[in-house]
Amino acid sequence: MEKKQADYFLRRVYKLLESDDGDLIFRLKKIRDEKGARVCGKCWTLLGVIHVDPRKELLPTTVHEALHMLYPEWSETKIKNAERGISHNMSERQYANLLVKLADYFVRMGFADRKVTTNDDDKARR
Ligand SMILES: [Zn+2]
Repeated sequence: MEKKQADYFLRRVYKLLESDDGDLIFRLKKIRDEKGARVCGKCWTLLGVIHVDPRKELLPTTVHEALHMLYPEWSETKIKNAERGISHNMSERQYANLLVKLADYFVRMGFADRKVTTNDDDKARR
């Protein structure tokens, strides 16, 4: 992936985290998939919910799950490739920016006060 394209996707991820209309519910949670296996993250595109396990690779997983939300039609393989392309192209400043966007999100949303119900029948994504 070219740097220019990686930057474009990253800007879209930033925008998603900045969305102020309550459409995105992003939680840091220890999670498992429907078979009980540990996963890094999960995305419910229809509900606008992303869970990321804070014990795993927080930033690449955030990018990965945000891509699922932004591009629900993409295959898991395409998402993984894009995640890798973006992560490999990110500068130190961009990683810092992503951390700031995440921190801003949690401050804006009042941390984990919001209770969220997710339907595990919905397609879980890694
Ligand atoms: Zn995935």
